Parts: sequence; structure tokens; C-alpha cells
Amino acid sequence: MLSTRALFLFIVVTGVFLLLSNALARPPSRTGDMAKPSGLQPVFPDKIRCIEIASPYGSQTRYDGSRRPKFRFGGYHGGIDLSLTEGTPLLAIASGTVVKKGGGERMEGNFLWLRHTPEDTGFSYWVYSKYQHLQSLPELQIGAKVRVGQVIAYSGKTGTTGGHYGTNGYPHLHLSTLKSSNDKYQTKGSNMLVPDSYLIDPLMIYHEANSKLKESVDSPSGKKTITIPYKTTDGNIWPPGMRVVWPVACRPR
Ligand SMILES: [Zn+2]
Repeated sequence: MLSTRALFLFIVVTGVFLLLSNALARPPSRTGDMAKPSGLQPVFPDKIRCIEIASPYGSQTRYDGSRRPKFRFGGYHGGIDLSLTEGTPLLAIASGTVVKKGGGERMEGNFLWLRHTPEDTGFSYWVYSKYQHLQSLPELQIGAKVRVGQVIAYSGKTGTTGGHYGTNGYPHLHLSTLKSSNDKYQTKGSNMLVPDSYLIDPLMIYHEANSKLKESVDSPSGKKTITIPYKTTDGNIWPPGMRVVWPVACRPR
């Protein structure tokens, strides 16, 4: 009798353990788990002026300090926001291909998806980048190839009016990035269905690019700072040869 009970207990404990470990091993999905703050701190070189992040990845607040609603990623920001005047040219963060564009919906706005292969970035994985709230539907066609730093769209406030931001809306870029271990994807509505993919802090892209050049450092506070690679308004990429850049050109001081 005791051994039957012991066996039953063993099965239950093992079952619970397997369920738990499976849940823990699962990478965060696009729509499921929260977007956890990465703790990465962007740093821009003194010699230039760049548009900095108004609301970082994983933040529970918007640029104005207000609380984000819980129904999207549990209230955690799924990308980065850059406050921009309408019509600011937006740059391809890396070379890639236009895989999806569309427009209009509330909170979504006009959007563009780029797909970056390991050859494009020098990384060991695929990256998908999504630009939202664009001024108009981008002219680039699906399948078009873009070069790192190329102007791909113009910033706007589409999809931001009528709710929290009122009738004036909030002109900004919301940039989000997906990381995937393989080249398979499907599109569905404004989303990409990419098997084995998960949402990452876009700063991870710059962190990865820097680590190829060994430029990443740990700050005294223990937070990891990242020097952001960028393209200047006069067309130069810094550091030279970098395959990933900030989505908005920086002005030399
Ligand atoms: Zn956002």
C-alpha cells in the first residue's frame, strides 16, 4: 500500500516538475508573456545629437509618465518609442527586405516590417523589425531590398489618436524587434508569425553589433551601457562599416 502511495506521489511530483520546467524553458512569445526590461542603457557619443528613447522597452509607462494598459504585454512596453516631429525620415536599422506593410488601425497605424538575415547583420539569427505610426503607407514594395541606413519611411502619428493621446495623437516611432532562429515566417494582419521567435529589446540589436566590435562595457552601476551606432544626417555611418544603425539620423554638433 505504501509503495503504491509513494509511486503515486512520485508521478505527481514528477509531473508538476516537468510542467514547471517546460513553462520556464519556453521563450516569451509575441503576444503571451510580458516584455521584461532588459536593463540596457543606450549612450550616444558627445560629438553628435541623436533622438533618444522616450519610453524604453519593458517600460510600464508612456513618454508622458502615464501608466500603460495591462492588455498589451501585461502593461510592459513591447518596443521603444522615439518622440519625433511628423515627417522625420526613418532609417533601416540594418540591410534587409520589406516583408509586410499596411495601415490604419487604432494603436497600430501605418506600419512596415523588415526582415534581416544573418548575412545582413552578421548575427547568428534572423531579426524582424517593425516600424509603426508612419505618416503614410511606405512606397517600398513587398520584397524590396533595403540598405542599412536607407530612408524607408517617414514618422507620423497614425493609430495614436482617439485614445490616451486624444485628438492630437502622439507623433513618434514605435520600433519593435523579433529574434528568430530560422528563416521561416508567415504574415497575419499586421503581425508576423515567426516560429521559435520572440520579442527582444531593440537595444539588444545594438548590443550584439557592438559585441562584435567589443565596444560594450559594464558601467559602475552594474547596468550594461551600449554606445549606439548611427548614421549622420550627412550620410556617414559610425563606427565605419557598422551593419546596424539607430533608426533616425544623428546631427553632428
Ligand atoms: Zn511604443
